[in-house]
Amino acid sequence: MVKPKLKIIPLGGVSEIGKNMMVMEYEDDIIIIDAGLMFPEEEMLGIDLVIPDISYLLDKREKIRGIVITHGHEDHVGALPYLLPALDVPVYSTKLTQGLISVKLKQRRARSGAKLNVIPPGAQLTLGKFKIECFPVCHSIPDSVGLIVHSPVGTIVHSGDFKLDYTPVDGKPTDLSRLAQLGAQGVLLLLSDSTYAELPGYTPSEKVVGETLDRVMAEAPGRVIVATFSSLVSRVQQVIDAAAKYQRRVFIVGRSMIDTVRIALELGYLRAPEGILGRLDELRGMPHDKIVFVTTGSQGEPTSALVRMANRDHRQLHILPGDTVVLSATPIPGNEAVVNRTVDNLFKQGAQVLYDRVAQVHVHGHGSQEELKLLLNLVKPKFFVPIHGEYRHLTLHAKLAESVGIPKENIFVLEDGDVLEVSPQSSRIAGKVSSGNVYVDGLSVGDVGTVVLRDRKMLSRDGIVMVIIAVNRQTGKLVGRPDIVSRGFVDTRESSGMLEESRNVVARALDHGRDRPADWGFVSTKVRDVLNRFYYERTKRRPMILPFMVRV
Ligand SMILES: [Zn+2]
Ligand SMILES: [Zn+2]
Repeated sequence: MVKPKLKIIPLGGVSEIGKNMMVMEYEDDIIIIDAGLMFPEEEMLGIDLVIPDISYLLDKREKIRGIVITHGHEDHVGALPYLLPALDVPVYSTKLTQGLISVKLKQRRARSGAKLNVIPPGAQLTLGKFKIECFPVCHSIPDSVGLIVHSPVGTIVHSGDFKLDYTPVDGKPTDLSRLAQLGAQGVLLLLSDSTYAELPGYTPSEKVVGETLDRVMAEAPGRVIVATFSSLVSRVQQVIDAAAKYQRRVFIVGRSMIDTVRIALELGYLRAPEGILGRLDELRGMPHDKIVFVTTGSQGEPTSALVRMANRDHRQLHILPGDTVVLSATPIPGNEAVVNRTVDNLFKQGAQVLYDRVAQVHVHGHGSQEELKLLLNLVKPKFFVPIHGEYRHLTLHAKLAESVGIPKENIFVLEDGDVLEVSPQSSRIAGKVSSGNVYVDGLSVGDVGTVVLRDRKMLSRDGIVMVIIAVNRQTGKLVGRPDIVSRGFVDTRESSGMLEESRNVVARALDHGRDRPADWGFVSTKVRDVLNRFYYERTKRRPMILPFMVRV
């Protein structure tokens, strides 16, 4: 008899950073770990976000026992508002994560009917043939967990996003003793975070940042403005703690920051001494060295309060000489240019600016090489799959696993959609299911495909030319010369001669079919062909050409 196998299928999050989603399937039971989004790369023009392709799951809905979420970051929860309407399955997470998910669902108006469940600490969750246990991990958002999945073929450990900070702000370090215990009992498979597998050594503790903030609050001559990620609740806590020590009051600025702080206070993940948090209308008359602002904008987001202030464009707040601005975040790759511009603008307004290259104002939330090795050594898995990272991160993490003694043939560097079949004796990649990017553009999901993206790329590079062709309703013959309107293609004044000439090119090309009613398919192809060739000869550009026919 063939024993049923456990299938591990990443639908996102391997060989890319973001849109984390891991499917585990055994006979008639499926569980999903995380449902994240990815922010678009630069060549995905006009796309707001990217979510995983879940077509593999759509006809297996009745098998899905639930989605378990490791923590509240966008790359782990961000796809839920788009996927829940399609899957309609229960979601399990810790308390703060659930709070953040419900805020998100409400923002997207997808809340009604979602079944959100809180996993109490220490509880075991039974989802079909899977029994799931959470263990606390230290990461850049409170209430993060890794998962221990007891499956019929063996125990699987999923690290979530983690680092091993022994002195974290919330006092809850990663639970190493539970992991060591599991390691002693035998773990079949470890799935572990690879985001910082490139960095040697250990990730510094949050404590380092606390010390910097303390110094800033003590020494800054005027107001202090701290910009960070709205999800970085522990950083907000550090700001509040340091401000309290020097009798400064804290003002939270910006919608998403206000939302997160409110929910974190409500659920007890943020502690603020009575009266320390203020409203902007209380600012008048307060001495500057008693004021701290906390805001988003650390990534140079154009609509954030910090960027508005840097550009003298904020309704209530302006940068004043003597202000100290702390950018408590590292620019996400791709954002460096806008962040640098923001720093420049802040300096120009007379502020003192502290950012990652000049001061210890940020530590990241993922383990470096020594931490990854420590986890491997504690858990001692038979099989290993590096997750959460680009191909190079996964490969480096695989090498680390080899270096601590996991045989090369037991390590699997996967791509999205790979099906890893796991049994107690052996594992192998046994196929591929459909996977990939679903683009979310404004309010619509999935109807922007690669064709649309190619068009946008073309438009952004070489512009557009519209050709308006008037034909006689009865005879189908051309009436007058075609009109040409262009945008983003050439300087219309300088190149008016060339554009004028192209009208004649079109007119000549259409003039052959003298007494034949014009077939639109033929005409539009012809117009595109001749103009493409003509414009390329003259300009070496390939604008998008859109012919229109008007019957008169
Ligand atoms: Zn994370
Ligand atoms: Zn992540």
